[in-house]
Amino acid sequence: MTAKLIDGKAAALALRGRIAEEVSRFRQSTGRAPGLAVVLVGEHPPSAAYVRSKVKATVEAGMESVEHRLPSTVSQDELVALIDQLNADPAVDGILVQLPLPPQVDERVIITRISPDKDVDGFHPVNAGRLAIGLHGFVPCTPLGCLILLQQELGDLSGLDAIVVGRSNIVGKPMALLLLQASCTVTIAHSRTRDLPAAVRRADIVVAAVGRPELIRGDWLKPGSTVIDVGQERVEQPDGTRKLLGDVAFDEAAEVAGAITPVPGGVGPMTIACLIRNTFVSAASREAFAYDKGL
Ligand code: NAP
Repeated sequence: MTAKLIDGKAAALALRGRIAEEVSRFRQSTGRAPGLAVVLVGEHPPSAAYVRSKVKATVEAGMESVEHRLPSTVSQDELVALIDQLNADPAVDGILVQLPLPPQVDERVIITRISPDKDVDGFHPVNAGRLAIGLHGFVPCTPLGCLILLQQELGDLSGLDAIVVGRSNIVGKPMALLLLQASCTVTIAHSRTRDLPAAVRRADIVVAAVGRPELIRGDWLKPGSTVIDVGQERVEQPDGTRKLLGDVAFDEAAEVAGAITPVPGGVGPMTIACLIRNTFVSAASREAFAYDKGL
């Protein structure tokens, strides 16, 4: 392996430490802790695991975390009523509804019901619009975490050629907008892109958010490029165990890239750290509390 390993776990720990210091000052100044409400519907085991780690990280940063568990049979009206109650609760600074939701509930109705000022996931159309036109707002946690890793690795990104493979609303599109804001020349690739290897080969920065394990091969990469692998899929191995794989064939890519994130230990920990960050920033804005804007 010749590429430098981008240690997302260490970067996330450092960010969480800085937020914990700010939270401590916030608590002293306002007499309350920033609060995150997490809504989990049904028994989907991966969702329950994500929620556990988000709640744990929130509490470790000195914030309050209130979990609302609802059965998979919950009606859309009941969920809307809970969101309204959380929107009105002054102790709640951030609301996170863990996706996916059961089929009787329209995700778009729930996402748009959350107050844009408590939308710490950054999925509300108002926050998506703010990002698109460069206004201050909540940015989705995974792309924000990727941007922080890229800036820590490369410094100023302006003028670099970047490709984002994947155009989902929660990762690909906001990632592309963040890179554009950082003055990269951005290509957005997707399942209909012609000659994806050639497009990837032109890029100084590759962000892979596809959900197709090891789609991106080592010989697709420009030598020295920086590779951020968002993908995380559990894939059954010949011995029956399940391994977490990214969208990039890591061993091959690490021989060509200049720097690369591992899976696990790359983007995943930064997603959680950015959720904590967004919750703190929400609390700080709501209380007009001055904080380190470099967070
Ligand atoms: P998604 O909504 O399924 O979107 C996948 C995107 O990949 C789509 O835009 C799709 O194109 C594109 N795509 C599919 N096959 C392709 C191919 N062969 N060539 C080029 N593009 C292709 O997925 P997502 O929610 O963005 O998540 C992507 C991955 O990131 C998943 O593995 C997910 O688990 C992971 N993830 C990780 C974190 C984290 O914290 N680490 C957070 C979120 C997601 P079309 O639009 O044309 O269909």
